[in-house]
Amino acid sequence: MKRIAIDMDEVIADFIPEQLKRFNIATGKNITIADLHGTKLKYLHNDKIETIHTFQNDPTFFRDLKVMPDSQEVIETLSKDYEIFITTAAMEFPGSFTAKYEWLKEHFSFLSDMNFVFCGNKSIIHADYLIDDNVRHFKNFKGKGIIFTAPHNINERGYDRIDNWKAALDYF
Ligand SMILES: [Mg+2]
Repeated sequence: MKRIAIDMDEVIADFIPEQLKRFNIATGKNITIADLHGTKLKYLHNDKIETIHTFQNDPTFFRDLKVMPDSQEVIETLSKDYEIFITTAAMEFPGSFTAKYEWLKEHFSFLSDMNFVFCGNKSIIHADYLIDDNVRHFKNFKGKGIIFTAPHNINERGYDRIDNWKAALDYF
C-alpha cells in the first residue's frame, strides 16, 4: 500500500476560525478570514505574536477545533487503499500534545494510534504523499507534496493542490 501523510491544523482540524475568535476577543479587533488572504495572523499582527502563541499553547484551543468538512468520510474511504498517517508538527506547541491526541481519538477513531505522528521537522516522514497547508514541509520531503488550500497559501505555486476533502477523493 502507498502511504499518505496528512497534516492536522488547517487540513483536518479547522484552526483559523478558533484562532480568529480568540484573537478578536483578546484584542477587540475584528479580523476575518478575508484578511488572511495570502498571509497568516502572526504576520498580519506581528505586534501581537505573544497573544497568538498563548492561544496555541493552551490545551483547550486544539481540543475544541471543528473537524474539516468531509475529512472523516474521505480519509476513512482512502484508508481502504492507502496507509494513512496523521503527521503534525506538534513540537511547535508542546502544550498541545494531549489535546491533539484526544481530538484524533475522538474524531478519527478508525485510525490506529500507531499512525499518529507528532513530529518537528517533517522531512523525517517517509510517505508517498504529504497533504499539508504549509509548503515549507515539502522542501526536503521525498514523496509528493500536495497543498491543502488555506487562506495563507492561496498564492503558492509549484505543487499539486486540493481545495477540500471531496477534491482529495477525486485526486486519489
Ligand atoms: Mg497545518
